[in-house]
Amino acid sequence: MNRYARQLDLLGEEGQKKLKDSTVFVAGIGGLGGTAALYLAAAGIGKLILAHEGEIVLPDLNRQILMEDKKVGEERLACAVESIHRLNHEVEIVSYPARITFEEAKKWIEPADVVIDARYDFPERYALNQACIHMGKPMVEAAMYGFEISLTTIVPGKTPCLSCMYPERDESWKPVGFPVLGAVSGMAGCMAAMEAIKWITGIGAPLTNRLLRINSLTMEQYSVSLEGMPSCPACNQQYHQ
Ligand SMILES: [Zn+2]
Repeated sequence: MNRYARQLDLLGEEGQKKLKDSTVFVAGIGGLGGTAALYLAAAGIGKLILAHEGEIVLPDLNRQILMEDKKVGEERLACAVESIHRLNHEVEIVSYPARITFEEAKKWIEPADVVIDARYDFPERYALNQACIHMGKPMVEAAMYGFEISLTTIVPGKTPCLSCMYPERDESWKPVGFPVLGAVSGMAGCMAAMEAIKWITGIGAPLTNRLLRINSLTMEQYSVSLEGMPSCPACNQQYHQ
């Protein structure tokens, strides 16, 4: 408890224990997911399950704070696990160095209390969304593009899902090389971690049924109410408001 002395007034010993007893699955440990994972570890989460593929490349380093420049060419996930343990060695970490598919994700998220979606491409986000609906897992949907951050928490059966919000893929979206500044993905990652902490400890209120948008250039923000799409192929059987 001494490690968490500065936050016990905020979370209470009971909240702290809930964190210790909880598991978060983080899909993607890049600029956004890596920041979320690191702050969850700092807060005292008991277990992290991480998924991310590939090796570190130099352009990762403008935002992926779990990576190291002397490890360019080495596996991203192994480096991320080392970095998290450098901050808090007590966190149990399970890692899958692979992309998200519906079938695999169902197994990977099974032990998780909360899922954080921090993938960079829509096909994986849709697969994870479907897996979370299938398994009844709450999913923090955090995204950024350029200077803009989007955030909402999806609860199967209680809120619209990702496919309700974005039923059609934006064909102009670039899967690789979209613009990203580390401070912006880091903001989004901290906000995603905060959603997970609130969900687990019961403090505050999760950002459900609302999509928050922040423009980090002006710090203007707004949120819109979300409505389920009755014909949504991903969740229409389960959505009740
Ligand atoms: Zn839906």
